[in-house]
Parts: sequence; C-alpha cells; structure tokens
Amino acid sequence: MKKVDAEISKVIIAKLNHRGDLFKELTQLAENENIHLGKIEAIGAVSKAVFGYYDQNEYKYYSVELDEHLEITSLIGNISLKDGKPIVHAHVNFSDEEGKVIGGHLMFGTVIFACEAVITVYKSREKLERGFDSDTKLPLWND
Ligand code: ZN
Repeated sequence: MKKVDAEISKVIIAKLNHRGDLFKELTQLAENENIHLGKIEAIGAVSKAVFGYYDQNEYKYYSVELDEHLEITSLIGNISLKDGKPIVHAHVNFSDEEGKVIGGHLMFGTVIFACEAVITVYKSREKLERGFDSDTKLPLWND
C-alpha cells in the first residue's frame, strides 16, 4: 500500500469552457495552477462523450464514444504527478434522456456543453508520482 498524508491548501471552483474538451480543460487547469496533488469533482452536461474501459486480460483500454447530449451526473478524479507534470485521472458517469447512466475512464474527446468543477488542492510533504506498474501495466502511483 502507498499512503501520503496531505492537507487542503485551497479550493478552486471553475466554470469550464463551452465546447471545450473536458479532459483537456481539467488538465490545463491543473497545469496552469501547478497542482501536484488534488481532488476533482464536477457536474454539468456534454454534447459528446468519450470514455474508456480497461480490459484486465488484454491490458488495454477500449473506448466508448457517444455522439449525443448527456448529463454529467458525476465526475470524480484526482491530480498527481507523472514525469514531474500534473496529470488528471478522472472517472465519469453520464445520463441520457431516459435517465440511463453509463460511464468509465474519462478520455480526450468529450465535448463540454456546460461544466462546473470544484478542485480541492492538497499540500503534502511527500510527492505522489505515477510510474509504470508491472502488475496492471497502468501508470499507477509509485510505491
Ligand atoms: Zn481510470
């Protein structure tokens, strides 16, 4: 197990850009604010959704692309470091006009209709860095 103790240093509340790429906007915000450790929460709506599913036998992501208007019922994620730069890892649920929910690992290509994000920024003595994990073949937090 890897554990880092952290304290809240600030909270950023942001309205993301209409028609922006959801993953890019969150990543840019993390880079611009130089966030090394953080929590992301967001709600809103998208005009297109792209998210992934990690196949644990094949060790690869499959992406799902939905070219439709959807609500972001819940986005939750974190910010840590990879190669010394802030990296966003977020999972998201979307609901359709019937209220049916689908979701997964947020990927590039999701187009924002409206999005309200709250980012909790932490400070910690120890850094949380991502590196290649041989068990899962994913960029997980280093031990
Ligand atoms: Zn993920």
